[in-house]
Amino acid sequence: MSKPIVAIVGRPNVGKSTLFNALAGEKISIVEDYPGVTRDRIYADVTWLNYQFTMIDTGGIEPESKDMMISYMRKQAEIAIETADVIIFLVDVRQGLVDSDYKVADMLRKSHKPVVLAVNKVDNFDKFMADVYEFYNLGMGDPMPISSASRLGIGDLLDEVVKHTMQLEGDEEEDERPRIAIVGKPNVGKSSIINKLLGEDRVIVSDIAGTTRDAVDTAVTYEDKEFVFIDTAGLRRKSKIKEDLERYSIIRTVAAVERADIVILVIDAQEGVTEQDAKIAGIAHQRGKGIIIAVNKWDAIEKDDKTIYKHTKKVREVLSFMPYAEIMFISALTGQRMFKMFEIIENVIQNQSLRIQTGVLNEILTEAVAMQQPPSDKGKRLKIYYMTQVAIKPPTFVIFVNSKDLMHFSYTRYLENKIREAFGFGGTSLKFIVRERK
Ligand code: GDP
Ligand code: GDP
Repeated sequence: MSKPIVAIVGRPNVGKSTLFNALAGEKISIVEDYPGVTRDRIYADVTWLNYQFTMIDTGGIEPESKDMMISYMRKQAEIAIETADVIIFLVDVRQGLVDSDYKVADMLRKSHKPVVLAVNKVDNFDKFMADVYEFYNLGMGDPMPISSASRLGIGDLLDEVVKHTMQLEGDEEEDERPRIAIVGKPNVGKSSIINKLLGEDRVIVSDIAGTTRDAVDTAVTYEDKEFVFIDTAGLRRKSKIKEDLERYSIIRTVAAVERADIVILVIDAQEGVTEQDAKIAGIAHQRGKGIIIAVNKWDAIEKDDKTIYKHTKKVREVLSFMPYAEIMFISALTGQRMFKMFEIIENVIQNQSLRIQTGVLNEILTEAVAMQQPPSDKGKRLKIYYMTQVAIKPPTFVIFVNSKDLMHFSYTRYLENKIREAFGFGGTSLKFIVRERK
């Protein structure tokens, strides 16, 4: 299930970051132990009541002059329209309405995406309400007064956002086809891979009917099996403008990954795996997606009998937080092993949806505990009562123990390894939830 994406669009200083932080809450500031969690909060997970969505802040580097404001705003709106399911258009009651607000409103209206117009800095509803009405002129429906700084009106705003995301979910048919996102740094060969796959006779390409959400996706059939490649139109159509600022590529990656079941992370064999690759991989890992690492341009490097081993080792080192990822060595240029990709995708999909019966799981557990005693602290030993699988995509297990504090990360890792030895689960992360049972 992909989480909806909500983007905040607005001029500099209207309070986008303040709103973003108010919505994201404190949780996101926890430093995670893997890369990809950006410091400057380009995106964050938001939970409101029972609903979850991913929020992105499309504002980036501010324009240097007033003349550049329109093009800055246009880019923001474009990326929001391209990636988001719902857009929060944020304006500032103190700055009032300006020309670029109208331009953005036009763009958003034409996109037919749901837009929530929020008027920020209404710190005092009595005092500023009259000024809020001015924003009706944008023709974007009812302006919602909020104060991000004093957290006023935030609940109403979220209610309105969730109303739209719920409708989206209702509109979306249950689509069983595996959804695949091809991600990676610029020039690693993403477009070449997609062109190779789609251009092949054995692959039948069909258009995706329906929703705006799917407009950039491509459905393909290969050996009677169907797959959906996410964002491929965007991949094939290279942006002419040099706007691939890091922020925008992160936003695009987050959006594509969010909607995917499987992420193919493309790495350039000539360059080797880099920290930036790790950052991108972190986004997919964090979201529990299936992962295939495709080391591309394999044709272009000199090889001996140790080359594959060396490359694998390096990838495993740099991406040590995802030891479960599948690795393949391909060439989009020559087509080498390109079609094996479908097979691996199938495998990973199956692994993500694998359900292990509690009985079988606890046999593994009993054996694991017998082989390596659980940790103890100050004379108290960890007792593991039992384990059960509660979810798929990613497979999620609840472990019931006597004391959570005694459950070390390393012991969870040990149990994970035992489960993987027994069932594989290649390409998919596993999630463990430890619960106390008194
Ligand atoms: P951004 O450029 O759109 O991300 O705007 P910021 O979030 O950085 O906010 C710009 C300025 O407006 C900062 O000085 C904030 O403290 C201020 N600000 C943000 N929200 C509010 C608000 O609700 N009320 C008031 N009075 N000031 C706010
Ligand atoms: P993207 O930016 O990730 O979409 O990368 P492109 O698909 O545009 O490829 C970037 C460059 O790498 C182009 O010049 C491609 O021709 C080249 N390239 C892509 N795949 C391969 C490959 O498998 N082998 C070699 N030698 N070059 C490749």
